[in-house]
Amino acid sequence: MNSISAYAPGRAELLGNHTDYNEGFVLALAVDRGTTITGQVRNDRMIRLHSRELDKTESISFDHLLAEKVADWSRYTLGVVDQFRRNELPLGGFDAEISGNLPLGAGLSSSASLENATVLFLLKAFGGKLEPLQIAKFSQMAEHDFVGVRCGLLDQIASLMSKAAHTTFIDCRTFQVDHLPLSDKVSVIIANSGVKHALVEGEYNQRREDCEAAARELGVKALRDVSLEQLQSYKSRMSDRIYHRALHIVGENERVQLGATALRQGDLAQFGELMFASHESSQANFENSCPELDQLVAAARRTSGVFGARLSGGGFGGATINLVEQGREDEVVRALQAALPQVKCLVTTAADGALASAVAPSVR
Ligand code: ADP
Ligand code: MG
Repeated sequence: MNSISAYAPGRAELLGNHTDYNEGFVLALAVDRGTTITGQVRNDRMIRLHSRELDKTESISFDHLLAEKVADWSRYTLGVVDQFRRNELPLGGFDAEISGNLPLGAGLSSSASLENATVLFLLKAFGGKLEPLQIAKFSQMAEHDFVGVRCGLLDQIASLMSKAAHTTFIDCRTFQVDHLPLSDKVSVIIANSGVKHALVEGEYNQRREDCEAAARELGVKALRDVSLEQLQSYKSRMSDRIYHRALHIVGENERVQLGATALRQGDLAQFGELMFASHESSQANFENSCPELDQLVAAARRTSGVFGARLSGGGFGGATINLVEQGREDEVVRALQAALPQVKCLVTTAADGALASAVAPSVR
């Protein structure tokens, strides 16, 4: 029987922290590793999955597909199958092997990469058609409904629509995507602190609520609609905490716009300063950093060859992203390890999204 294969990469957020659910702007990129799903169509309605990384197997008939009936790890894939079923796209039974080279749970969105790869696999296997934004939405809804994580669309869009040697500018209100050239003289280092804050979900939801409260007080649909001047003129009427949360988001949206201009001008030094400023705002205004992330960013700042560094993703632990001069990666990794011995560094570059290239880059 014919073997079918689909691949989607992980992603990193270069600038624009917590802006996605505030309908703001973000600069992301696809990384040069991801998840592949390979398999064959079956003649019955059974689905059999195997994950090489986890060495686990799951099987279920898609007539009886429910999140509670299947193992956690398989819900990303089976949640996508469920989206196909609900939306009446062509579907049947299949056997598939999942394999990848992304660290799981390290902030590179192995989840979106697996979901997107699954959508592409099912389209190829059963002949359905979806527009790029619909692919992203199927992946997102799989995560909402089957995994229970109410993620935005940033991860899925960046994994699908990014372009090699470019950053992906996403307008999180219109979901319009733009590609801005990223110099081929830079590498990206993801430094995973290994820290996971115990209260991370509660803190995340609290930040979302604070942002929504700020938007309500300011009388706008989302913080995307507020300028720095407007926010400052309201300062005396807002609580200190809500003001600082809003200041972070409004500042991030402005930094993403300035960052896009800096990239268009090839000004990596300026771009790097915006990354450091983003981290400082996380520390002072949004309070979503932690000592380990601060140590990593401080070490990056002291190390020549680093343009900029900041926490990437939700915060309260997780990873920093470092924009680094090519050829200096080893020095930078050593400096980060000296600052935080348990750090795990991964060197990557801006790669094609899943829709730009149908084949996986060679596994490193
Ligand atoms: P992140 O998206 O930052 O990597 P998540 O917790 O959102 O972290 O998603 C990680 C989860 O996705 C894993 O715990 C696992 O359930 C699933 N997953 C990702 N890649 C694979 C894989 N190759 N095999 C099996 N499950 C995977
Ligand atoms: Mg994820």
